[in-house]
Amino acid sequence: MRRTLKAAILGATGLVGIEYVRMLSNHPYIKPAYLAGKGSVGKPYGEVVRWQTVGQVPKEIADMEVKPTDPKLMDDVDIIFSPLPQGAAGPVEEQFAKEGFPVISNSPDHRFDPDVPLLIPELNPHTISLIDEQRKRREWKGFIVTTPLCTAQGAAIPLGAIFKDYKMDGAFITTIQSLSGAGYPGIPSLDVVDNILPLGDGYDAKTIKEIFRILSEVKRNVDEPKLEDVSLAATTHRIATVHGHYEVLYVSFKEETAAEKVKETLENFRGEPQDLKLPTAPSKPIIVMNEDTRPQVYFDRWAGDIPGMSVVVGRIKQVNKRMIRLVSLIHNTVRGAAGGGILAAELLVEKGYIEK
Ligand code: NAP
Repeated sequence: MRRTLKAAILGATGLVGIEYVRMLSNHPYIKPAYLAGKGSVGKPYGEVVRWQTVGQVPKEIADMEVKPTDPKLMDDVDIIFSPLPQGAAGPVEEQFAKEGFPVISNSPDHRFDPDVPLLIPELNPHTISLIDEQRKRREWKGFIVTTPLCTAQGAAIPLGAIFKDYKMDGAFITTIQSLSGAGYPGIPSLDVVDNILPLGDGYDAKTIKEIFRILSEVKRNVDEPKLEDVSLAATTHRIATVHGHYEVLYVSFKEETAAEKVKETLENFRGEPQDLKLPTAPSKPIIVMNEDTRPQVYFDRWAGDIPGMSVVVGRIKQVNKRMIRLVSLIHNTVRGAAGGGILAAELLVEKGYIEK
């Protein structure tokens, strides 16, 4: 029998933190044991949290006191999940890794450290071995693994599945992102109600940068075009939906490519988490919808057998012989953050990086 692994959630009252609490409360072998924060330290979790997700604060969690992010108080903790804000996360995560803890981070601070995996378990699971280099170079007993920006994942999951098998030479992405992607309290209401808020050149650029890193780590069945010859561009926006990033992708190829065939590839896409039957792995990482008015953010963001863990793709259409159009919908706080973090932890347990 497996032992129960105790998890600490840093930033447990935040929008990603609450998804960790919700998902881990039903997890077969990882339990939320330590909830950490800053402003809410010393208070019962149930009193300070804004539970902006489905269901209610789990009974056994509501009375837990929020504690400081101090490794010395976490002797019996096995895994650290870190959805801390940018800037605050980096040094705290380093401190935990140095003290010997496995840290799974959703924050941007370490996403481009060359010895830190930027993990989508279905696409680049082999990058976990970077941990060996990280430990050696930094003389850490623990380690840091990161998950990508939610927006980047919404495009990278279908694009990764395509790039693996086809001579894809470009993708032009337009995003329509939800409010929860900016955390709580996030964007002032007057900036976003009755409006479409462009996120700007910086956000466009970081989305592309992350997608490039992930594509560079996909094990491909075709050897051209080289990644440096692939054109990627993104135009990012936020609107007043609560959860779920909706993204429109125009994907081009070096040779004639049938939309029907790509659709089949996306439907059949599976990865190591599915082979290993990890508890948080959806049976279909990509769900393809056929109706030309789906997916819709409101109805489809929780789709799949592990709600919120599948990227929902639809509106697949031939634009010309070498171009297709598709849309994707990702639940940003689940697959794009907490669920992706838990799936990463399960893979790390299977690979022996977190002790069973
Ligand atoms: P959030 O709603 O603002 O929550 C952050 C939480 O962190 C707050 O509840 C706060 O708790 C705590 N906190 C703030 N500063 C702290 C510090 N110095 N030490 C300890 N705790 C601190 O943000 P979020 O949306 O959950 O995002 C968290 C991280 O995940 C960010 O790095 C974000 O970029 C990343 N991410 C978010 C999404 C998404 O869809 N939201 C997706 C992917 C990645 P207290 O009340 O206790 O201070």
